[in-house]
Amino acid sequence: VLKYPVKQKEYDIIIIGAGVSGANIARKLSQYKLNILVVDKEPDQGFGVSKANSGIIHGGFHHSLDSLKARLEIQGNLMFDQLKKELHFPFERTGILVAAFNEEEMKTVDILYRRGVENKVIGIELCSRERMLSLEPKLNKDVIGGLHAPGGGIIEPYRYVYALCESAKVNGVSFRMNFHVKGGNFRDGKWTIFDQTGESVKGRVLINSAGLFADEISRAFGAEEFKIVPRKGEEYLMDRNAKAKPGKVIFPVPAAHSKGMLVIPTVEGTTMVGPTAEMVENKQDLSTSRGNFEKIFYSARRLIHEVSERDVITSFTGLRPTMEGNDFFIDISKKVQNFIQVAGIQSPGLTASPAIGLYVKDLVKALGIVLEEKTDWQPEIKKVKRLREMSAEEIQDAWNEDPRYGNVVCRCEKVSEAEIVEAIRQGHGTLDGVKFFTRAQMGRCQGGFCTDRIMKIIARETNSELWEIQKKSKGSEPIQYSLNTHNHEA
Ligand SMILES: Cc1cc2nc3c(=O)[nH]c(=O)nc-3n(C[C@H](O)[C@H](O)[C@H](O)COP(=O)(O)OP(=O)(O)OC[C@H]3O[C@@H](n4cnc5c(N)ncnc54)[C@H](O)[C@@H]3O)c2cc1C
Repeated sequence: VLKYPVKQKEYDIIIIGAGVSGANIARKLSQYKLNILVVDKEPDQGFGVSKANSGIIHGGFHHSLDSLKARLEIQGNLMFDQLKKELHFPFERTGILVAAFNEEEMKTVDILYRRGVENKVIGIELCSRERMLSLEPKLNKDVIGGLHAPGGGIIEPYRYVYALCESAKVNGVSFRMNFHVKGGNFRDGKWTIFDQTGESVKGRVLINSAGLFADEISRAFGAEEFKIVPRKGEEYLMDRNAKAKPGKVIFPVPAAHSKGMLVIPTVEGTTMVGPTAEMVENKQDLSTSRGNFEKIFYSARRLIHEVSERDVITSFTGLRPTMEGNDFFIDISKKVQNFIQVAGIQSPGLTASPAIGLYVKDLVKALGIVLEEKTDWQPEIKKVKRLREMSAEEIQDAWNEDPRYGNVVCRCEKVSEAEIVEAIRQGHGTLDGVKFFTRAQMGRCQGGFCTDRIMKIIARETNSELWEIQKKSKGSEPIQYSLNTHNHEA
């Protein structure tokens, strides 16, 4: 029996934002005897920048050690094997290649290689044309050489966030979703924070890990003034049967402010191309464009000829939260008390995220908070059985135990009713929440076959009406219920 799931309105630590940053901070701090609350404006965790990215665990050679983001990237990368063992999210060290197609590009590869050596990247290798083609036979044969970072990898970012939050919950951390922080004040050694409805909670230390909105949170609490500028990235996802699927992540030689447009084998067997890198003003701008679609495919085909537009099953856009100086800003506020900034977490934020958790733990300690370790902290969470990963015998056993494993709801990704029920049980009760937890609706038909079946399961499990089921948030209900009876009669 856990001693720490204390449900109260006063906390030692309140974390604003349940993305990869907030989730790692929460899990790390859950090792200590602290009452912790995570709040997020969305109905589920990871619905900010953390759900829309390239899913790469970077290799540690793109940035110099002068930057905090590079130091945390390198440290974070090394932490993923242990995390995977404990949290069972999909992660694989496929290795990363940077491909050069002329002598000028080879000079940049040489700089990246030397930077990788300085950064002590394990196994980094400068490669000849033959070596590159033996590492990745699908590469364009015009390649003249490149770089290999065997420690780079791929991850399913949403399952990663969910697993971190589940682990934090198991260890007593509370979560309040749909809590849109609007402001607050610091009195008598405590922060009071308010949401959009006027509800409030109190905490001794506030951690601002609000992604794209970290600047607005900082301003609302009278802390540092800075501006988060979104750097937009469009990506295109291809079917799992696409011939272009490489074994390794393939980068072009990078440009000044971007790692370039890549060909990425996703950890679940599909292939992704992108992202673009474009500064925009609007934090809601998730549009894709024909022009960028063409740019991405032109660039990706330069790396692997077989990349084809005909394999595309969906597209999406993510916004990197960048700020002046182009680095992470993780520090104790110098303007207000007991306030920690975790801002500017652009790429490689996903890779760096476990190290961000550690770094922030030290800042909490530096604020004078006593960190007393729990003796009953549980590093592991329960592994969810997934139909598509089971042998015929395992399916039979699972079906005997729970007949819902015999009901395949999503045919493309082979997802059973039992997995969907588990997603809902763990709090992922929107259509996107189910999708990110199970992959149902993520395959070739993009939910054409299973969406209505999933909605019925959500309605049954949550005792809701079908028109109350949301895709991702309030206002996104696929069935619009109208109270206007006249319309119903018509
Ligand atoms: C296109 C693209 C590709 C990328 N590829 C990679 C990659 O391959 N590898 C890599 O390492 N990194 C990559 N990144 C970067 C990585 O995705 C981010 O660094 C990381 O997800 C940032 O996480 P976060 O937790 O700081 O922010 P978020 O995930 O945005 O979390 C912030 C949370 O705060 C909540 N919030 C905001 N305002 C409020 C409020 N007022 N009240 C309550 N809650 C609030 C939001 O709802 C959100 O859930 C990529 C990014 C993009 C956009």
